[in-house]
Amino acid sequence: MKKNQSKIIREQAPRSATREHSVPLYLTSSFIFDSAEQGRAIFAEEEEGMVYSRYANPNTTEFIDRVCTLEKAEAGLAFSSGMAAVFASFAAFIESGDHIVSSRAIFGSTHQLLTQLFPRWGVTHSYVDTANIEDWENAIQPNTKIIFLESPSNPGLELYDLEKLGQLKAKYPNIIFSIDNCFATPYLQQPLKYGFDLSIHSATKYMDGQGRVLGGVVVGNEELLNKMMFFIRHTGPAMSPFNAWVISKSLETLGLRMDRHCSNALALATELEKNAEIADVKYPFLPSHPQFELAKKQMKAGGGIVTFEVKGGKERAFQFIDALQMIKYTSNLGDSRTIATHPATTTHAKLTEDQRIHLGIRPGTIRLSVGLEDQEDIINDILQALEQTK
Ligand SMILES: *Cc1c(COP(=O)(O)O)cnc(C)c1O
Repeated sequence: MKKNQSKIIREQAPRSATREHSVPLYLTSSFIFDSAEQGRAIFAEEEEGMVYSRYANPNTTEFIDRVCTLEKAEAGLAFSSGMAAVFASFAAFIESGDHIVSSRAIFGSTHQLLTQLFPRWGVTHSYVDTANIEDWENAIQPNTKIIFLESPSNPGLELYDLEKLGQLKAKYPNIIFSIDNCFATPYLQQPLKYGFDLSIHSATKYMDGQGRVLGGVVVGNEELLNKMMFFIRHTGPAMSPFNAWVISKSLETLGLRMDRHCSNALALATELEKNAEIADVKYPFLPSHPQFELAKKQMKAGGGIVTFEVKGGKERAFQFIDALQMIKYTSNLGDSRTIATHPATTTHAKLTEDQRIHLGIRPGTIRLSVGLEDQEDIINDILQALEQTK
């Protein structure tokens, strides 16, 4: 099988003696050894074999293999949540005295790691605000261990130039280049091909895609992943076999779903741009996006998130959300159902007004995770809510 889509559907955990077609759920915490000698050999890593589900399990291994196929990665590890994956991608490598360079517009809990937790361990950070590659290079210090970013950012949908960052990696080979690739998904964007070392996902979002279970995954450079393996073996943030079984099956339809998320999102963004009640619309594949050319270069399509600002500030934004009929207000994203959120009073409420403006979050900003419903129904629900709250 040469093509990714066929591989992702067909490459699965080895069939058991019952000859099942679809992959069974391996709810077992440990695996038996055929002999005392085999137990010894597997523990000594002379023979390959599963030992304990904190280390590996057929369901999590299948899930990881599929993500590796999608991202063309050498190796990967699965985690209990996206944050467990993000945390491990730092904690497996940092030492007291190290420094991290990060884009400023990052997921809220990642911001808490950098600003609250890591300083307790003597690890400092610098935020970079711009896509300008010189600003990234200038932020590097002699003790910089990791460069981390999210692209597109949440919820401002700003991009960073992955090719230029890959060139920076070539110049600083000892720094780990790491990206939270959750918004783009491996179907739309493959950062490893530019030279990134690690690509991280909250599998809770588009990978599951149906708002059911939590999960996280890191794929990339094998040597680094082996170091991370030591970290997860002994700290225990492994993905549960059940969640792996659910999400792995979902990966079979990731491409199909992303095509639809993206076409629905582009249609909605195009429609909103024409609407007099909207002050601003951000979507990477809108020609009006300041980084439209970059988006087309490094992403297959624009993704499923549309961020827009309603006229009338916070009051109007609240009225708008309450006037939605089909679309629900919940803090997840990447679901088959369209979701609206108000970042200023939820995910980004702990920031100051100034910090929020800096990230493109105004009182009237709405983040929409565009689902798989009929395009007309999504657009009509939004138009009726705008109309009702004029
Ligand atoms: C949701 C999210 C996370 C955290 O993932 P969980 O599965 O909720 O722990 C990290 N990064 C991004 C960009 C996310 O959207």
